[in-house]
Amino acid sequence: MKLFTFSFSRFTCYHRFESHLSMSSFVSSINHISGKSSWVMQDENYDYHQEIARSAYADMLHDTERNKKYFLALGKAIQLKRDKGEKVHVLDIGTGTGLLSMMAASLGADTVTACEAFKPMADCARKIIQQNGYGNKIKLIPKRSTHVSVGPDGDMSHRANILVTEVFDTELIGEGAIGTYTHAHKELLEENCIVVPSSSNMYVQVVSSEFISRWKDIQPIKLQGCDDVRPPSDTTSCSGAIALHDLQLQQLPRDQFTCLSEPLKVFRFDFSGKKPLVSNRQSEVFFEALSNGHVDGILMWWDLQMDTNGEIDLSCAPDWVHPNLKELQWRDHWMQAVYYPSNILPVLKDDKVKVISNHSEYNLWFDVAKENSNGNTKISNGPDCFCGIHTAISRTRFGMINDPDRRQIIIDALRKNIKDDTVCLCISDGSLLPLIATRLGVKQVYTVESNPLCKRIVDRFIEENSLSEKIKVIEKHPENVTIDDVDGNKVDLVVGEPYFQTSMLPWHHIQFWHSVKCLSNVLHPETIVLPCRMTIKAVAVDFIDLWKIKAPVGNCEGFDLDIFDKLIEASSDIADETVEPQPLWEYPCQARSDVKNVYTFDYTDFVSKKTLPCMTNTKLNINSHGSCNGIVLWADFDFGDGNVVTTGPRDITVINKKIEWDYYSRQGVHLLKKPVHISTEDLKLSKHCVIKIETKFEPFKSDDFAFAFSMEYCQ
Ligand code: SAH
Ligand code: ZN
Repeated sequence: MKLFTFSFSRFTCYHRFESHLSMSSFVSSINHISGKSSWVMQDENYDYHQEIARSAYADMLHDTERNKKYFLALGKAIQLKRDKGEKVHVLDIGTGTGLLSMMAASLGADTVTACEAFKPMADCARKIIQQNGYGNKIKLIPKRSTHVSVGPDGDMSHRANILVTEVFDTELIGEGAIGTYTHAHKELLEENCIVVPSSSNMYVQVVSSEFISRWKDIQPIKLQGCDDVRPPSDTTSCSGAIALHDLQLQQLPRDQFTCLSEPLKVFRFDFSGKKPLVSNRQSEVFFEALSNGHVDGILMWWDLQMDTNGEIDLSCAPDWVHPNLKELQWRDHWMQAVYYPSNILPVLKDDKVKVISNHSEYNLWFDVAKENSNGNTKISNGPDCFCGIHTAISRTRFGMINDPDRRQIIIDALRKNIKDDTVCLCISDGSLLPLIATRLGVKQVYTVESNPLCKRIVDRFIEENSLSEKIKVIEKHPENVTIDDVDGNKVDLVVGEPYFQTSMLPWHHIQFWHSVKCLSNVLHPETIVLPCRMTIKAVAVDFIDLWKIKAPVGNCEGFDLDIFDKLIEASSDIADETVEPQPLWEYPCQARSDVKNVYTFDYTDFVSKKTLPCMTNTKLNINSHGSCNGIVLWADFDFGDGNVVTTGPRDITVINKKIEWDYYSRQGVHLLKKPVHISTEDLKLSKHCVIKIETKFEPFKSDDFAFAFSMEYCQ
C-alpha cells in the first residue's frame, strides 16, 4: 500500500526543528498570498496526526477484492496445515488494524502473532482486537518484524508455519517487501511454511504516446514565424529522476496512446521461501512491435498469487488488459506507474525490441532498446538526473509546460499585446515565458525568479538559446524589486503563467496579485497585466470512487473497525485541510450543480487602495435525482478576449454528466462527511439541497483562503 505520499509533487514538505522550551516545534510554512515562507509554531503531535490522516489505510480497507482474497487464501492455508495434522501458527507482519490476524483467529488458527512497526497503528490494533473479542487469541508485538525475536525469552516462543502479510506499494517492493520476507524466512518461519500471498508477477506494456511523453521532459517550443525555444541539450539526454510516476492508468484517454506490445511479464517474485529473493536483478524480455510508433512510456503493474496453487489471483492491471473485468477493483493504495525510456526509441511494426527491467531492494526502472543493440543502456544503474531539471520540476509541471492548448492561449495573448518596443516583466517560477516573449519580438524582458532552483533552470534555457542580452533574471522577491532592477525602464506588460512552485491549490496564484501590487512602483497605470483576472469557481459533484479515501470503514469482512474510523477522523480533523489538492482527471465524478463563481480578483487594479470583500458566500443548488459527495474548487485565468487558462473542467459542465478535468492541475476537493441524497420522492415535494461555501480572504491576517461548507435541505 501507498502509506505516505510525501513526494514534493503531491504535498507540501515541512522543515522542522524542535523547540526545547515547550511541547511544540517550529515548522516552515508557506504564506500562499505573499509566497514567502516563515516559521510557525505547531503542536508536537501534528506530524503524528498528519501521518495517520494521510496514510492510505481507509482506501485499502475499502478494497473489497483485496480483503476477500486474503480471507479466502488464509482459509486455504490453514486448511492445508490442518489436513497435514499440524498445529497452525500464523504470523501477520504489518497488521495495521489487526484485520488479517482477526481473520486468522476467526478461521481457527491455534496461535496468531501480529506485529506492527507504526506505533499509533499498533495501539489502535490492540484496541480493535480486544473489542472484537480476540484479545486472548492474538499476540500483538509493536515492532518492526526485523526486530522480532523467536525463543524462550523472545517475542515469539516458536516459529510460525503461516505468514500473512501485506507490505506492498504501487511498485510492489517500495515498502521493503524483499527485506521483510527475507528476514522472516530466515528468523521467524518454519521451513515448510505457507506464505499468503505466495508470489507476484510484474508486467509492463510498452506504449507510443505524444500525450505521455509530455510528462517526461521540457519539449522544444515551436512558435509560428519565429525561432523555437530549445531545451538545453543535456536535459534531453538525461536519464531523469528515480521519482515514481504513479497514476490511475485507466483514466488515460484511450485515443491518447497506442500499445506497441502486449503485456509482458518481466519479473516474478517468489515469496514462498523456496528460493531466496534477490535484491538486485535485471531481465530482458523481447517483443515484436505491434505497430509503427516510438517508445514514449513503459506502463507497469503487478498481480498477486494469493494461494500456493495460483487459484486466487489479485490483479492491479488497468481495465484494457485486466484478466477478469468482473473483479476490477478501484484502489488508490496500489495504482499503476509509468516509466520513461532513456531515449525515445522509434520503432516500425514487427521490429524486434527488448525491454530491460531492473530492480533494487526498493526501486524499479525500465528501458528499451532494439533487439541487437548491446545490453548496457544508459540507465543500467538506475536513473540519476545530472541536468538538474528532472529533480527540480514535477511531472505535472512538465505536462503543464508542454500542454499545447494552454501554451497557445498565452502565446496568442502575448502576440496581441506586444510591440517592438515593449518592455516586459515576467512573474512566475521557472517559466519559459521570458523566452517566448523574446522570440515573439519584445524589446526587453525582466523576469523575477526568487526561487534559486527555478532561476538556475531559466538561466540554462537563456544560455542555450543565446538570449542573455534580451532577458535579465532578477533573483529577488517581488517586494524587493526596485526601479534600478529594471534599469529605470517603464514596464509596459506584466505577464505570469499561472504557476508558482509553492502553490498547492489553483488559487494560490493569488501570489501574482500580491506581486503585482508590490511592483506598482515600477509599473504605470497603463501597464497591461496578463492574466488580467483570476476567478475561483466551484461545482458540487458526485465522485464515483474518491470518497473511499476518507469514508469510515465500519464493518470489514465481519470485523468491527469503528475504533480505527475514530482514530482517522480525530487525526484528520487536526491535520487535514478542509480543501485538499487532487488531480481529478484521475478520479471521475459527475457534476451535480451548476458551476458558480466564488471570488474574482482583478489583477489590473494594482494601484487602487480599494478594499476587497473579506468574505463571499456561494450557493450550489442540487435539485436533480441522485447523490453528491463532494465540492470541487479551481481557478480560471483570463488572458483577455475570452481566452481562459483553466485549472478546472476542459469542457462545459453538464449536470449529471462526467466532468473532464484539466490534466495538468490539481483541483481543490472537499469531501462531504455526510453525502447528499435527492430521491425522486424529494423532487415531487420539490425538496432540494443547497450547499453553502463561505470563503474568507484576509491577506493581512491569514496566509491562505479559508473555506467553510454547510448544507441545508429546502422545500
Ligand atoms: N495488514 C493490514 C495493514 C496493511 S498496511 C491490512 O491488510 O489491512 C501495511 C502495514 O505494515 C503498515 O501499517 C506498516 O506500518 C506495516 N509494516 C510494513 N513493513 C513492516 C514490517 N517489516 N514490520 C512490521 N510492520 C510493517
Ligand atoms: Zn535530468
